[in-house]
Amino acid sequence: MTDNKVLSGIVEIGRGMATVGKHLFRPPVTLEYPEVMPELSKRFHGRLCLLTKSSGEDLCIGCQACARVCPCGDLIQIEMHRDDKKQPVIDRFTIDIGRCIFCGNCTEVCPVDCIKMLNDFELADYSREALVLDKSGLSLSGEESDKYRKEHGLEPHVE
Ligand code: SF4
Ligand code: SF4
Repeated sequence: MTDNKVLSGIVEIGRGMATVGKHLFRPPVTLEYPEVMPELSKRFHGRLCLLTKSSGEDLCIGCQACARVCPCGDLIQIEMHRDDKKQPVIDRFTIDIGRCIFCGNCTEVCPVDCIKMLNDFELADYSREALVLDKSGLSLSGEESDKYRKEHGLEPHVE
């Protein structure tokens, strides 16, 4: 009985060593984050942003479709008015990233491809208030927006 236990112990150690040996020369599957950043898919659901026109002007038309489709209540808040030429002017656009579940619904319904998701996943901050991003915190420059559109198969130049 004791001999059997010793034998099965040796067999189990051998199996463990074989598993270690099998993985010894394989490339590692882990990364030394944050020194090494992962290569993420273009479809990664990270921080939300607002693309602008190539000129840097607002692309958003204030239709509220993103806010209405969001399953998390009122975390997208938009206030807008129309100027003398009946063009939309976005007075306020905030997203409470701290309550966002990164479902991507808002990005799918936007009729002008304005609200998008970036690869940025480092969103930790020191207060809940700091996670409420406003229009300036959300908006990419015209140049950044063109780059984003080009990388994601959209027409880069938007007037
Ligand atoms: S990703 Fe989902 S939860 Fe986050 S703001 Fe968009 S619709 Fe709302
Ligand atoms: S769906 Fe697009 S255009 Fe409409 S309010 Fe949201 S970001 Fe602006």
